[in-house]
Amino acid sequence: MVQFKQQLRLGFTSAAAVSAILCVATGWLWMRSYGIADSLSWVRSHQRLSLDSDLGRVGLTWDGTQNDSYPAFNYGHKWSGYAGTYQGDPFVNKDWRVAGFQWLATQGGETSPGPVPPGGFPLIGNHFDPGWRVVAPHWFLVAVAALLPVRWWQFRKRSFRKARLASAGLCSACGYDLRVTPERCPECGLAASQVPPTRLTSKPTSN
Ligand SMILES: [Zn+2]
Repeated sequence: MVQFKQQLRLGFTSAAAVSAILCVATGWLWMRSYGIADSLSWVRSHQRLSLDSDLGRVGLTWDGTQNDSYPAFNYGHKWSGYAGTYQGDPFVNKDWRVAGFQWLATQGGETSPGPVPPGGFPLIGNHFDPGWRVVAPHWFLVAVAALLPVRWWQFRKRSFRKARLASAGLCSACGYDLRVTPERCPECGLAASQVPPTRLTSKPTSN
């Protein structure tokens, strides 16, 4: 049981640490997004999953085309930086937006070939596959990533306080002096078994 609790605590601490790193990284990307737009794409057989960061928004897009003349849809993983915003998509059949969030769905279809817009998203070809795009503001992702580290800090602060009170011979729940009644707190009724072991080991020195 004790071991399980320790593992749970270790898991919680690790998750909070990863979340804190993501929080800081997203914050950094947020600041950066007002000067430089970033895009990370993963491409597989004419289909593409890309994550982009621009002007305070993060977008995740799944799209594809059968046109081989668009290098963005070649095989491979890559980081690419581009200037400018997401260029939009033909064949949009759903576009839902509220407070910086967006969900967009495209049904796919055929177009006549045209030029790639300068610095743009090369979504122009003979055939498009259906796709989707979700957008969220950086602040929202930063807030979500901060939840776990903040929770971790609250637990940490509480356990520090308990240990400090206990080692001073005080009740860890209410701070009442327990040197006369070490078995049970007369103020709030907390039993000695609930008191951390540091409380018991520090007791003989007070006599
Ligand atoms: Zn007490």
